Amino acid sequence: MATVKKIGVIGAGQMGAGISHVFALGGYDVLLNDMNPDAITAARSKIEKNMGRQLAKDLITQDELQAGMARIAGTPSFDDLADCDMVIEAATENADVKKKIFSALSKILKPEGIIATNTSSISITALGAVTDRPEKFIGVHFMNPVPIMRLVEIIGGIATSQQTFETASNIVQGLGKTTAVSEDFPAFIVNRILMPMINEAIYTLYEGVGTVSAIDTGMKLGANHPMGPLELADFIGLDTCLSIMQVLYEGLSDSKYRPCPLLIKYVEAGWLGRKTGRGFYDYSGDTPVPTR
Ligand code: NAD
Repeated sequence: MATVKKIGVIGAGQMGAGISHVFALGGYDVLLNDMNPDAITAARSKIEKNMGRQLAKDLITQDELQAGMARIAGTPSFDDLADCDMVIEAATENADVKKKIFSALSKILKPEGIIATNTSSISITALGAVTDRPEKFIGVHFMNPVPIMRLVEIIGGIATSQQTFETASNIVQGLGKTTAVSEDFPAFIVNRILMPMINEAIYTLYEGVGTVSAIDTGMKLGANHPMGPLELADFIGLDTCLSIMQVLYEGLSDSKYRPCPLLIKYVEAGWLGRKTGRGFYDYSGDTPVPTR
C-alpha cells in the first residue's frame, strides 16, 4: 500500500478548507493551492475559527489546534504540489476547469502520486482519462461541512485500481469518516437523491406554491430535516447545485432532472447563496432574511 503523508488540496473554497482541516488534524502535512491567493488566506482563517469551535467544545486540545494549523501551508503556485503523495482536487464544479487542472497536474506530480477529486457529480472515469494515471485516480466525495459530516463517498472510475481504491478508503476511514461506495454514475448516491429534492423545492417556490420560509419550515418541521432545502441550497452554493442538476439532466437524459429556471436565474445574477451573501436568503444582517 502506498504511504501517504503529504496531501495537496487544489481549491481553497469551503470544501478545500474543510478537507485541509480534517487532514491536518489527522496528522498529514497539507499544501493548499488556489489560483486566487486571497482564497488561501480566507481558508486559513476559516480553518482556525472552526478548530477554535472544536476546542471550545473540548473535541480537540489547544496543542492539537496549534499542531494542526502548523501542518497547513498555502501556495498559489501549482508546481509546488509536485512532491505530494496524494492530491485532492476541490475546485469549482465544472468539468472543463477540472480537466485542465488534471492534465496540468499529471505533468508535475511525482509518478506514484494518487489523484483524487471531490466532485459532487462529474464522471470519475472521464476526469481520470485526462490524467497520465487513470489507475491512480479516484473520487473521494466529502460532505459539507467536512469536519462535522461523517460520510465520504468513494467512487472508482472504470480504470481505478483496487490498490488505489483501498488506499483512499483506508485514509478516509483513518480520519474517522464512514465510507459509502458508489458506482460511477452522475451525482453518485447522495446528490442523486438530495439534489432533485432541492431542485423540486425551488420549483415549489417558482410556481408560487409557498414562500421561502413556508417551504423551509415545512421540510424542517414536517419531514424532520435539520435544514430546509432552500437554506441547504444556499449553504451548498447555487452554482454547485445548478452544475449537479445539469450533470444529472445531461448524464441521464431524463427531463425529470431539468434544472428549475429560477435556479438558473439566481446563478446568472451571481446570487450564489451564503458564499456571496445572497441566495434564497439575504445574509447581510445578523440573521438570514428570506428574499421571496
Ligand atoms: P467554492 O466555490 O467554495 O470554491 C472553489 C475554489 O476553487 C475557489 O476558491 C476557486 O478560486 C478555486 N479554483 C477554481 N479553479 C481553480 C484552479 N484552476 N486552480 C486552483 N483553484 C481553483 O466551491 P466548493 O463548494 O468548495 O466546491 C468545490 C468542489 O467540492 C466542487 O467540485 C463541489 O461540487 C464539491 N463539493 C461541494 C459541496 C458543497 O456543499 N459546497 C459538497 C461536496 C462536494
